[in-house]
Amino acid sequence: MTIKRFLVLCLMMSICGGFFPIQSAEDVKPTTREMNLLCWQEFQELVPARIQTVLLPVGSLEPHGVIPSGTDNLAPEAMARDIAASVNALIAPTLNYGITPAMKAFPGAVSITPEAYAPFVADILENLADNGFRNIIVLNGHGGNTAVLKEVTVQVANEKKVRILVVNWWSLADDITKEVFGENGGHAGNNETAYIQAVYPEHIHFERYTKEMASVNPPAGAFFTVPVTSSIGLYEEGQGYPTFLKDQAEEYFQKVNDRVVALIQDVLQKWDLAGVYR
Ligand SMILES: [Zn+2]
Repeated sequence: MTIKRFLVLCLMMSICGGFFPIQSAEDVKPTTREMNLLCWQEFQELVPARIQTVLLPVGSLEPHGVIPSGTDNLAPEAMARDIAASVNALIAPTLNYGITPAMKAFPGAVSITPEAYAPFVADILENLADNGFRNIIVLNGHGGNTAVLKEVTVQVANEKKVRILVVNWWSLADDITKEVFGENGGHAGNNETAYIQAVYPEHIHFERYTKEMASVNPPAGAFFTVPVTSSIGLYEEGQGYPTFLKDQAEEYFQKVNDRVVALIQDVLQKWDLAGVYR
C-alpha cells in the first residue's frame, strides 16, 4: 500500500468512526461510577444510553464487636465499588442509617423507625427510576432492613415499572462462609469481620477482642432480648468467632463479590429473556 492510499484509508476510518461509533457495555468507561462524584452532564450521557443499572448500598450504624459500627454500610459500599464495572452499573450514595432498635442501647448506635425508613427508601428508589435506570440493585448490609425493603421494593417496582433486586449478602454467601471458615458465621463474626478486614484492616481492633463478648443468637421463636446481650451474635453455638486472618479475609471478600456478580448477571439475563419492564 502506498503512503497516499494509507493516509486516505486512515481519513476514511476516522470519518466513519465518528459517524458510527462502535460501543459495547464493556467499552463504557465513565470518569467514575459513583453518582456522588459524577457531574450531571456526564450522568446524562451515561444513563440510560450506556448504563441502565444502579447499585444502592443500604445499611445501619450499630455496634459490631471490635470492627467499625458502620460495617453494614461499609461492606455493601466496598462491594459496590468492587463489582460496578463487572455489571456495568453506577453506584448511588449509601443509605447509612437503618432499623436497629435492639442495638440502640449501645454507644454510637442510631436507629430509625420503619415508618420513617419506608417512605425515605421508596422516594430514593422512585427517583432512581425517574433518572432512567431500568435495574436497581439494592446491596443490603443489615438484616433489620430486610422486611421494609421487601415491602417497599415490591411497591416501587410495579408502580414505576422498574426491575429491583435486593441482595442480603451474608445470606447469599452462607455456603462461602462455611467453605472459607469451615463453620457458620455470625453478626460481627468471622464473616463480617473478614469482609471488613479486607478493606479496612486498620479499623479492626483485635486488641479489644475477647471470646466472651459473643452470644449465640436465640433459636428462632424461643426468646428475645432488648437490648441484645452482645453485638457479636453467633448464628450457631460454638461457631462464627472472628478469626482476624488477613489471607482468609481477602479470599472471603473476593469470593463473596464473585457470587454477587454472578447473581446480578443471572438475574439481569433472566429479566431480559422474560422481557419484563424493559
Ligand atoms: Zn453487620
